Amino acid sequence: MIVGFIGLGRMGAGMAARLDEAGHTLLVHDLSAEAVAPLVTKGAKALASAREVGAGADIVFASLPSPAIVEAAIVEAAGGGKARTIVDLSTSGPRTAIRLAETLAPRGIASFDAPVSGGVKGAREGTLSLMVSGPAKQYENQVRPLIERFGRPFYLGEHPGAGQTMKLVNNLLGAVAIAVTSEGMALGIKAGLDPAAMIEVLNQSTGRNAATEDKWPRSVLRRSFDFGFATGLSLKDTRLCLEEAKALGVPLPMGDVLVRLLERTAAKYGEDSDFTAMAKIAEEDAGLDPERGA
Ligand code: NAD
Repeated sequence: MIVGFIGLGRMGAGMAARLDEAGHTLLVHDLSAEAVAPLVTKGAKALASAREVGAGADIVFASLPSPAIVEAAIVEAAGGGKARTIVDLSTSGPRTAIRLAETLAPRGIASFDAPVSGGVKGAREGTLSLMVSGPAKQYENQVRPLIERFGRPFYLGEHPGAGQTMKLVNNLLGAVAIAVTSEGMALGIKAGLDPAAMIEVLNQSTGRNAATEDKWPRSVLRRSFDFGFATGLSLKDTRLCLEEAKALGVPLPMGDVLVRLLERTAAKYGEDSDFTAMAKIAEEDAGLDPERGA
C-alpha cells in the first residue's frame, strides 16, 4: 500500500517516520522543505502539493496546524483521484470533520478524524493515544493496522467528529491542569517553597496531574519551556472547544479562564511560544521574575 502524509511538523514527522520504518512506501508533502528533508533522506518521495499526494497514494494522512488548512489540504488531496481513505490526525474540531465527511463520502472516499494525544515524544516513540471516528469497515481493514504504529487507537464509532470532540475534552483538561498548576506553583514559590520540592510532593499527593508529572519536570523547572506544543495551537484547541460547548449549550467557565490566560501568553511570548509559558504569566502576576534561571 502506498501511504501519503501531508504536514511533517513536530507531530507529523514522528508519525511518518514510524510508517517509513514499518516499510511502507511514503509520499510526503509539506510547505517547508526543511520539514520534508529527513524523510526524503530515509527514502520517502517529496511531492509539491496535497493533490499530487492524493493522486499517488492509496491512503492519505494529514497532521496540519489549523482547521482551515486541514480542510483545504484534504479537499485538495481528495481531488487527486486515487486515495480512497483520508485520515486527519490534526486537532481540527468536530465541525471540520463533519464537513469533510459530507464532502468526501459522495466521492466514495472514507473520511476519518483521528486526533492524537501524547506529544512529540509520543509521536516519535509510537506511544500516542488516537481518538478515531469514521466508517467501520475501512477502519478495520485499512486504518487500524497503520495507526497502531502511532500508539493506541480508541475507535469511537462511525459518527464523524466523535474523535475530535473527545480530543477537545482531553485538551481542555490538559491545558486547565497547566493553568492551575501555574497558579499553585507561583503561590508556593512566592511563599518561599522550593519549586522542585513542591513538584515532588505534588506527584506523591492528590494534586498530581499531567502538568506536575510531565510538563514541570521536563520544561518548567528547568526553565526551558520547550515541551513541544505551541501556545497558538493550544489557543486554537481551546477556542474550538468553547465553540463546540456554545453550540451544545454547555457552559465552560474553566475554559473561559483558560482562553484568556492563553491569549495573554500569546500576546506576551508569541503564538509560537511553548504553552508551558503560561507558568510565566502566573509568576509575573505573583510579582516573581519569570526570566529567572533554573
Ligand atoms: P507544527 O506547526 O509543528 O507542524 C505543522 C506542519 O504543517 C509544518 O511542518 C508546516 O510547514 C506544515 N504546513 C502548514 N500548512 C501547510 C499546508 N497548507 N500544506 C502542507 N503543509 C503545511 O504543528 P504540530 O505541533 O506538529 O501539530 C500538528 C497538529 O497536531 C495540530 O493540529 C496540533 O493541534 C496537533 N497536535 C499537536 C501536538 C503537539 O504536542 N505538538 C499534540 C497533539 C496534537
